[in-house]
Amino acid sequence: MSKVLVIGAGGVGSVAVHKMAMNSAIFAEISLASRTKSKCDAIAESVKTRTGQSVDTYAIDAEDVPALTALIKAIGPKLVVNLALPYQDLTIMDACLAAGVHYLDTANYEPKDVAKFEYHWQWAYQDRFREAGLMALLGSGFDPGVTSVFAMWLKKHKLKTIRLLDILDCNGGDHGQAFATNFNPEINIREVTAPARHWEGGQFVETPAMGVKQSFDFAEVGPKNMYMMYHEELESLAKFIPELERARFWMTFGDAYIQHLTVLQNVGMTRIDPVIYNGVEIIPLQFLKAVLPEPASLGSTTKGKTNIGDIATGEALDGSGEKTFYIKNICDHEVAFAETGNQAVSYTTGVPAMIGAAMVLTGVWTGEGVFNIEQFDPDPFMAMLNTQGLPWTVEELPAPLGF
Ligand code: NDP
Repeated sequence: MSKVLVIGAGGVGSVAVHKMAMNSAIFAEISLASRTKSKCDAIAESVKTRTGQSVDTYAIDAEDVPALTALIKAIGPKLVVNLALPYQDLTIMDACLAAGVHYLDTANYEPKDVAKFEYHWQWAYQDRFREAGLMALLGSGFDPGVTSVFAMWLKKHKLKTIRLLDILDCNGGDHGQAFATNFNPEINIREVTAPARHWEGGQFVETPAMGVKQSFDFAEVGPKNMYMMYHEELESLAKFIPELERARFWMTFGDAYIQHLTVLQNVGMTRIDPVIYNGVEIIPLQFLKAVLPEPASLGSTTKGKTNIGDIATGEALDGSGEKTFYIKNICDHEVAFAETGNQAVSYTTGVPAMIGAAMVLTGVWTGEGVFNIEQFDPDPFMAMLNTQGLPWTVEELPAPLGF
């Protein structure tokens, strides 16, 4: 029975808080704070209607460390779950240290002025968390998050070593809009317009953004074009599975999405450096975010499924030679919406955030310092995925991927 404070009242925060309320034996008291209190109140109202549980709400600027520290001390949670934006990771970690509480997030820190997805800023907090006797759990969403737990589960139960790893992220959903992103547009567009990087031969190899395309037939979705891109779990996977010869991340995008993004890039709307407009400094990408649909508003119209998983090839644990396994979850947008009022991209992130929080609060995962999700026993997390709305399947493939 523990108190938790969630920061960030977007789609992911909404799902996490709903699922925490549905697991009230673990999450006895839930507080939700965000920049805009009215968004917290709307989530609290939905949680009350759906589950009967109460959620306390607060306005906070998570970049104001003294104010956030004071709020955490006043609420007194055991854990802060950061579901705001990656820009706030370090200030929230600072406030957790100052207030003496554990920390969890789903996306690694990014500086606002350069699209760089790297763990070193957060790994640098290792000594401070260890000396304070606190735990920071990084990357407890789907990707990063479940995709890394999938890899570690395969390493525990199927493969002695993983030589090749491909993470395939397919969103087969259709929201009926000409162009919209399924999670925060600014973060999403920064991610997909950054150069692609994959791990090969002990180093990262960089290629132009969206330069490598492959068609793949996804179960319950059908054939889709997917593009190789950089994703932050490649860095932690390469660290915690040191024998990896190659690791790649793929995400599907429709032709209309690519066309819109290409035009927006060509006209400069995805720039993250300031420009002067009518005497005022604006960041084009932030302005673009303001005119695009809010991801949370897409839930009621999104139909179709997500299909996200890992394909891993390596030496079988049972000594039967090299084997390839495909482990994945398929999530239905409409089913997710019916349960929490949010589409599947928020759902597939918010549920693992809740499960990671449950692992910390129940003491199933313990430790002092900064940890990536790959460092813990995957089994209890995998068991909760099955009972909390994200069931997974594993199958053996006849051969490694042919591309
Ligand atoms: P949204 O943009 O919908 O929500 C983010 C929320 O954070 C908003 O409610 C916003 O404010 C709040 N916020 C922003 N800045 C501050 C601040 N300074 N202080 C307090 N609150 C702030 O994003 P999503 O819900 O789609 O995504 C949330 C997080 O999840 C992101 O970090 C994203 O990168 C991550 N993510 C991870 C995935 C994974 O699989 N690992 C997949 C998808 C997302 P306001 O209250 O004003 O609205």
